[in-house]
Amino acid sequence: MSYASEYDVIVCGGGTSGVAAAIASARAGAKTLLIERLGALGGQMNVSGPPGFSYAWLFNQRGEQIIGGIIEETHKRLLDEGHALPHDHTEYREGSGFTFSYVDPDWWGLLIFNMMDENDVDLLLHAMVVDVLKEGDKVTGVAVETVGGRLELKAKVVIDCTGEAYMAVRAGAPTDMVPREHLQPHTIAFTCDGIDWDEVLDWVRAHPEEIVHPDVPGRSPEETCKVLRRIENVWDLGEIRGFTSILKKVMDNNEWHGMSGMGFFLMPKGDPKNRRVLAHLQHASHVPGRSPYDPWDLTYSEREARRQIQIAFKAFKKYMPGFKNAYITRMCTELRIREGKRIVGDYILTRQDVADAKKFPDVIGKSGFPAGGHHVPGTDTIATDVVWPKDRGSHDIPYRCLVPQKVENLLVAGKAISTDRDAYHRFLQQTMVTGQAAGVAAALCAKQNITPRELEKDVSELQKILQEQGAILYGTH
Ligand SMILES: Cc1cc2nc3c(=O)[nH]c(=O)nc-3n(C[C@H](O)[C@H](O)[C@H](O)COP(=O)(O)OP(=O)(O)OC[C@H]3O[C@@H](n4cnc5c(N)ncnc54)[C@H](O)[C@@H]3O)c2cc1C
Repeated sequence: MSYASEYDVIVCGGGTSGVAAAIASARAGAKTLLIERLGALGGQMNVSGPPGFSYAWLFNQRGEQIIGGIIEETHKRLLDEGHALPHDHTEYREGSGFTFSYVDPDWWGLLIFNMMDENDVDLLLHAMVVDVLKEGDKVTGVAVETVGGRLELKAKVVIDCTGEAYMAVRAGAPTDMVPREHLQPHTIAFTCDGIDWDEVLDWVRAHPEEIVHPDVPGRSPEETCKVLRRIENVWDLGEIRGFTSILKKVMDNNEWHGMSGMGFFLMPKGDPKNRRVLAHLQHASHVPGRSPYDPWDLTYSEREARRQIQIAFKAFKKYMPGFKNAYITRMCTELRIREGKRIVGDYILTRQDVADAKKFPDVIGKSGFPAGGHHVPGTDTIATDVVWPKDRGSHDIPYRCLVPQKVENLLVAGKAISTDRDAYHRFLQQTMVTGQAAGVAAALCAKQNITPRELEKDVSELQKILQEQGAILYGTH
């Protein structure tokens, strides 16, 4: 099988941002190639994932759906096929913004391949993009190393969806990153079956004050404990974290590594009638102070995370209610990187913008995720200096955050878009929103023969197509 060597749009990296970008670009009429270093698509969603809350945060604290488009489409298709759970509007989580819309990550990965076929996206897998081709400050394509040798592929627009801005860095775009000792820790996640959920639920109902609660405005912790005491379905919990007395015992007995707290998420498996509930542990290892741009640091982190998860799994089996017969069903094949470089784009989204629920004329999507909730190594797991969008609403994501300074014909989507540290847009729903927008923008630039920066002058067509593709840009807080 042979493919073209020239494309309208080349997407580098097939994680959540990359697959959304490729689908959106092809739907907007561009001849599109998606290049991925692995044999599977999905990145941290299903290869080195899933993230515990996959998906979540599609609603703001008012309960308004603020995120649609490709993420909603994939959720609906998987729900129709029995591989997802409905958007959760449970008493426990409603009004928190932190509501779940769980999908089965393995069926998600299969669906994405179908969507590549349906939309005529060309794929190049097992191919590592190693550089960009440039003429002056214009990116003209990419260089790729494959088992068949090096390829040079041309494109009118390249989209960097590598998660860590690898291509933007190669292209010479300015980036920002906190010093490596302050980076959020890396993790290897794993999933367990064989859990006695009645036992887990009994414990939670008996000790609700030991669970970290979702932040529901106007509801006191005591009222939340009352809700937890009458909880009947494990799905209503979504995330279960805290277990403070158990953690203390494990720590006192020197049987915990101390790099994170105790807790887990849930994962749907099987059809609705024979649904199994798995526990997904993504806070069981934390490796701080290591750079995603240093292979020696990455190697150290892979070893250290594996050391920690063995300690964690033993402690879970011994101390956690319901986990006595637990066994591991899925071990992620590689480290997941929580934090890396962010590009410096034509606009830098800030913590204050999130707090102000700021609206922008070049809106390409929304987010209700609070700013500042960093992971920290230590039993607290997550720092608490968060700020929510005002009035329980959401803020806009401006198109300019996807356009790196100093380089032309390049867009960035996913984790590495232009934000300050607290407004980091690394969560699944955010990466699919920015991926979809970058895909449409790139297709438009290719069609109109303009650069992504020139598109900033008039984003009306971009916004029109995004809305036709289901994206939510207006009409919510
Ligand atoms: C431990 C952990 C827990 C998390 N928990 C949650 C959570 O609960 N909820 C949530 O919403 N989010 C969570 N996240 C965040 C979220 O999972 C990721 O930030 C998001 O999936 C990133 O998407 P992306 O497309 O930007 O990057 P990625 O998913 O990392 O995709 C990048 C893709 O690019 C490919 N690639 C990289 N370099 C190259 C190259 N040179 N050539 C070719 N291909 C390349 C990679 O193989 C990968 O497929 C978590 C992240 C981590 C690390």
